Amino acid sequence: MFVDLMVLAAQCRFHDCCHAIESGCAVLVALAEGTLGEDRWQSFQKLRREQAYAARQADPHLARANRDAWKKIHRSVRARMRFESGE
Ligand SMILES: [Zn+2]
Repeated sequence: MFVDLMVLAAQCRFHDCCHAIESGCAVLVALAEGTLGEDRWQSFQKLRREQAYAARQADPHLARANRDAWKKIHRSVRARMRFESGE
């Protein structure tokens, strides 16, 4: 698939490089040098956008699980405070 691009991205100076404006970005260098075709880069970014979208779609469940967990914590804290204040 995009193994060559992944290898290239792994050579970026920063781990969380977004390959847009970062200095030390191996992808930008390859684009500038012409070793990486613009078309190929565009289709890789399209794929990444789709993956990010899929991740966001999955997120609401995560967010709700997180909220439920916090609700439980708040409830137990309130119960404990009531108990300690003698109500
Ligand atoms: Zn990069």
